[in-house]
Amino acid sequence: MKADKVVIGNIYTVDKKQPKAQAAAIAGGQFIYVGDEAGVKVYIGENTEVLRFDGGIILPGFGEGHGHIAPGGTETLFTVHLNPYGTREEHLNAIKEFADKHPELDVIQGAGFMPTGEFTADMLEGLTDKPIVLADIGHHSYWVNHAAMDRLGIDKNTPDVSDGIVVRDAEGTPVGYFREGAMDLLKPLTVFSVEQYKEAVLYFQEEYLAHGETLILDPIINWDSTDNAAEACHQLDMEGKLHMHIFAAYQVFQAQGHDTLAEIEHAAALRERTWGPMFQLSNIKVQVDGTIGPPPATAYVKEPYSDPWSQEHQYRGQLRMDLETLTAVFRRSHELGFTVHVHTMADGALAFTLDAMEKALEQTGPHGCRDAVTHLQLVDPVDIPRMAKLGVVAVTDPHWFGMDKGYLDIMEGVLGKKRTQAQLPMKSFFDAGVVVTSASDYPVENPAYPLTGIQKGVTRHVPGQPDTLHWLAERVTVEQMIEATTLNEAYQLRCDDRLGSITVGKEADLVVLEEDITACEPEHIADTKVLYTMVGGERVYISEE
Ligand SMILES: [Zn+2]
Repeated sequence: MKADKVVIGNIYTVDKKQPKAQAAAIAGGQFIYVGDEAGVKVYIGENTEVLRFDGGIILPGFGEGHGHIAPGGTETLFTVHLNPYGTREEHLNAIKEFADKHPELDVIQGAGFMPTGEFTADMLEGLTDKPIVLADIGHHSYWVNHAAMDRLGIDKNTPDVSDGIVVRDAEGTPVGYFREGAMDLLKPLTVFSVEQYKEAVLYFQEEYLAHGETLILDPIINWDSTDNAAEACHQLDMEGKLHMHIFAAYQVFQAQGHDTLAEIEHAAALRERTWGPMFQLSNIKVQVDGTIGPPPATAYVKEPYSDPWSQEHQYRGQLRMDLETLTAVFRRSHELGFTVHVHTMADGALAFTLDAMEKALEQTGPHGCRDAVTHLQLVDPVDIPRMAKLGVVAVTDPHWFGMDKGYLDIMEGVLGKKRTQAQLPMKSFFDAGVVVTSASDYPVENPAYPLTGIQKGVTRHVPGQPDTLHWLAERVTVEQMIEATTLNEAYQLRCDDRLGSITVGKEADLVVLEEDITACEPEHIADTKVLYTMVGGERVYISEE
């Protein structure tokens, strides 16, 4: 058989049976030969396109284990971006300028402020008559104006929620700041249309294919509580416009107004309705805890937080689901063939999640659904062997590696010294035999290009800022980072039988880099140029120079 394309160069396959190759032949969108250059000659016919890359390295297409592309794309295109290090005045000016520039918008949305300090609706008066809804940089709180609360009828009589915080004044009136599950109250104002999501996904796809990313999990496809984003991805898939493999998770909740198990059934129906070659809703997402930040922090820790108030109240944060419900989520999701993707920020949430997994496993037996836990900012080492035993995938966030002194000082007040110095492990998971993948939580990190994640995993500091190095002992090798970003991503998303390595029989997804990142200085991995990206044997990006 003659090949459609032949690629010749320094190929790093990420296939343990044959780690290196000089050439690959592609036909019908798949690799039909991977080996030495002499062996590829028989596949070259009259119509074969031969691509020769001297120097550099050829890798499988990159993956991202947790990136919010639909809400991230709409945020990038249709909202005001607040500089997390900007002043209050700069934020207010930016909001006013954006509102004036966009008379077509019914709601002014924005994101990016640092959630430290006080936030009230009063502060947002005089900017616009329209509702304003602003998410903090980590998307764990909304700061809104009076028009937003008025539109939704949120007032003194609005009840508290079980899985979040409605911040109120002395009279009990909501001040305009809503944390965690309380953000749900504002969701009707944050809806984007199917058309807007289509634009956002295409925007993301173009930018990230140019950085070698060919596979991603959007961990909350129902971010705005609608099916619009899933519908948009499905329409693009049917129109043949998706060139990136997009997997999605549907988030289910346990709180007032939510029927957790009914939401899983809804996800199953949505999966059937939207399943296609490039877009597949295959995960159920659960958020077990919140985030670690200024008190009261919402992530669930094993030992109380270290600030005076938390010490006095023996406060350990919040769990957003009880054990029985979480166990039922695992059970029902596995029955329906879903992977469960769990947000566990702190050590208490992780241990609690593993308890529920063990309970569900006792009830149903092995399932092969490859559940994943993500963020893993604080991990008790005793839980790592449990993860290995359960076969849980560790979706780590190397994009978050690197911490400046200011941040560490804040953290020390909240976590104490010992916990502050041991955040975001990675090597420990590899050492214990846990399957490790890499994520950015885009748009929490924005941009979040794969090579930046690889570099940060290897160096554990912000590129160009060695003084932000955090926890040297958890550095991993560039080969481990490549594995985490390619084959292991495919494993996490249960498509390693067809994606994730340059192997005969797999779909021909690959990326060509100008420098060999396995040989260059780690500090230069992130600025390595992507020369060419291929998905399913088709060129989806080529560098213009
Ligand atoms: Zn996330």
